[in-house]
Amino acid sequence: MRLLDELRAGLDRLDHESLRRRRRSNAQPCAPHAVVDGRALSAFCSNDYLGLAGEPALARALAEGAARWGAGAGASHLVSGHYAVHDALEEALARFVGCERALYFSTGYMANSGILPALAGRGDAIFADRLNHASLVDGMLLSRAGIHRYPHADMAALEALLATSPARRKLIVTDAVFSMDGDVAPLAELLALAVRHDAWLVVDDAHGFGVLGPQGRGALAEAGLGAHPEAWRIVLVGTLGKAAGVAGAFVAGHADLIEWLLQKTRTYVFTTGAPPALAHALLESLRLIEAGDARRARLQALIACFRGHAQLRRWRVLPSRTAIQPVLIGDNAEVLAVAGALAAAGFWVPAIRPPTVPAGTARLRVSLTAAHDEVEVIRLARTLMELERSGVTA
Ligand SMILES: *Cc1c(COP(=O)(O)O)cnc(C)c1O
Repeated sequence: MRLLDELRAGLDRLDHESLRRRRRSNAQPCAPHAVVDGRALSAFCSNDYLGLAGEPALARALAEGAARWGAGAGASHLVSGHYAVHDALEEALARFVGCERALYFSTGYMANSGILPALAGRGDAIFADRLNHASLVDGMLLSRAGIHRYPHADMAALEALLATSPARRKLIVTDAVFSMDGDVAPLAELLALAVRHDAWLVVDDAHGFGVLGPQGRGALAEAGLGAHPEAWRIVLVGTLGKAAGVAGAFVAGHADLIEWLLQKTRTYVFTTGAPPALAHALLESLRLIEAGDARRARLQALIACFRGHAQLRRWRVLPSRTAIQPVLIGDNAEVLAVAGALAAAGFWVPAIRPPTVPAGTARLRVSLTAAHDEVEVIRLARTLMELERSGVTA
């Protein structure tokens, strides 16, 4: 069984490098209080930034959607799996983010990995931030376009790459909020470069949608780019399993762009439509997001609270004004030991290691939500300081 032996050797290597991942089964729904292996844990690991995943009104909407639309779509959208409630959701999403049209996808991974090959091919060029999400990286590789990765948020490097590219069609691709760093991309400068070099600008706002900007309309709205005369060249991706608390994603932009993507995106065309009940629930989620200023204010207050209390020396809370508050530790084994010590103290904070982040930058990814309470946030910050001082050994 040579083939299996190879896999076993690969798994052993993951163990040696402290890169083996383990799933933890939570006996509770998504909320700040989890139960894992019979132990209560205070969880700082979800992307449920507004605390909507466990919101009773949203769970009711999902049940109502299932009662009205049944369990499944039955076919792909272009065959017979597209329902009136999908249209209603796409119209509501487009209106909410201020775009002409939106297309609803089953997941953000599928949206990103599908739209890049639909927009670029052999002979074209894609310019991507080095810290972009894996789904954008995979979409880029699938496209067969020339790939140019620029150092994180380095606009001068991006400009130099754009200026020397002979490609006829260019795409600049970026996360709006970087998922493992929490910082926000320089969107206005990116749009200016896209205009100067006649490029598309693909913006993945997985972590900004629902959280940033007026009524949570996202990072582009926050940057005031929604009504920009060149906004037609922006391809906006938002995901619906994070702040929106359900599942799925959307791509929004100019009506002609969306019609093209509907025709050409293989991860849209060749997959069963997402259950219409989810679209029904997502309409309620959009209403909760729009009316969610109190949740967003609470989240901002908790972010300030965590940053104010976590005064670290050797480790470092990365500069971030978003719900993603990474604590940089560096070494894979050390970050695992710290995550273990936190778990022993009753906290669930994920240790993020390569390949999710560059080698040598292993970190804890603390994520805050409107559902957390201040006492727990302060207790987490103090526990981190104690662990740093006492020295956790791997
Ligand atoms: C989570 C995430 C995705 C993938 O979205 P899913 O709906 O979970 O598949 C895409 N981009 C970024 C930046 C993300 O953080």
